[in-house]
Amino acid sequence: MDNNYNPYQDLIKILDKVAGMLGYEESDVSILKYPERELQVSVPVEMDDGTVKVFQGYRVQYNSLRGPYKGGLRYHPQVNMDEVKALSGWMAFKCAVVDVPYGGGKGGVTVDPNTLSHKELVRLTRRFTAMIAPIIGPEIDIPAPDVNTNAEIMGIIVDTYSMLKGHSSPGVVTGKPIELGGSLGRAEATGRGVMISTMEYFKKHGIDPKTQTVAVQGMGNVGSVAANLLNEKGCKIVACSDVSTGIACEAGLDMADLMKYLSVRGNLLKDYKRDGVRMISNEELLTFDCDVLVPAALENQINETNADKIKAKIIVEGANGPVSVKGDEILDKRGVIVIPDILANAGGVVCSYFEWVQNLQFMSWNLETVNQKLEEVMVKAFAGVVKKAEEHNTNMRNAAYMVAIERLVRAKKLRGIFP
Ligand code: GLU
Repeated sequence: MDNNYNPYQDLIKILDKVAGMLGYEESDVSILKYPERELQVSVPVEMDDGTVKVFQGYRVQYNSLRGPYKGGLRYHPQVNMDEVKALSGWMAFKCAVVDVPYGGGKGGVTVDPNTLSHKELVRLTRRFTAMIAPIIGPEIDIPAPDVNTNAEIMGIIVDTYSMLKGHSSPGVVTGKPIELGGSLGRAEATGRGVMISTMEYFKKHGIDPKTQTVAVQGMGNVGSVAANLLNEKGCKIVACSDVSTGIACEAGLDMADLMKYLSVRGNLLKDYKRDGVRMISNEELLTFDCDVLVPAALENQINETNADKIKAKIIVEGANGPVSVKGDEILDKRGVIVIPDILANAGGVVCSYFEWVQNLQFMSWNLETVNQKLEEVMVKAFAGVVKKAEEHNTNMRNAAYMVAIERLVRAKKLRGIFP
């Protein structure tokens, strides 16, 4: 990754641009440019060999104008304060675009979880939870899974937080195991939302999914589900990747076989050997000859170094911030359609909201209800962004930010500034 890339600076650039397009003064939007609260913690962990390692952890509470802070926790070696600030800001705008009553937050630990034993991972999660416990809570700030974290980790957080509080508190996180109050459909919700957004675009433009080829960067929780569901809708998945390699097959990957292969923990694409499937590099994956590209890995994957080489006509952002501001400008000039992250990948947080509501009501909904409500929210948000784009004759990213900024500015006006 480019060392000069700073996602928080990218976020400010978009904000300034879109606020200008909406005719706002600086004082209307200045509050949206800074996180309300930033916490950095040094997390000591006793390793299995008896030594102590100290990891850096973060929780940034970007904005609470529209509700409690909400957003995931990521475990990744690249995690740093500017990244978490940007990710927390994107959550605030995402929740506003889909109109769920949350602000934005995000956290993480700078660690490669693959280098830890399971017991070390549990100890890290417990100590990190204890260190951010003073600022999280079901009505305050609700973490969820993100890169390299999952339902199991959320379960450990529920237990740690509950023990500290002296009572069971399942609503402190979303994306929990179903047995601990998690919601049906939550694990697939981000990928499902990516599929719904893509289908809405197809419907609006009269595109038959059966004519579409798709490449997916990242076969984690978001990318694999999106690829599989798009395939069910008739799209041909011609390439995909994980941390180990990319794979390609012009005739279309056998998704049933691939999903089965990936369902085994630890299976990597580099060992997926099938007739007609060849290995490709990450760069080849991003510039693959296809109709739709779904970057579902990390930030800054498409930037000024490769945006002019992208062959896809439509990019659906499964990841947060996969296209840099400079990359976005190049794509826009070239007429490449981008369905932006704060809309396309919002299915996860929408379903988190459903989970939280179920927890607060001590209820659980069936899968059909969850998926139907998710579709309703995503379709409505998509239509709202499209309408805004048409009104302002602009692209979907600008339009999504317009919708979000208007809602946030309105919330600020209604609340006023304390004291
Ligand atoms: N980590 C997901 C995201 O980036 C989900 C966050 C949540 O459910 O709170 O949107």
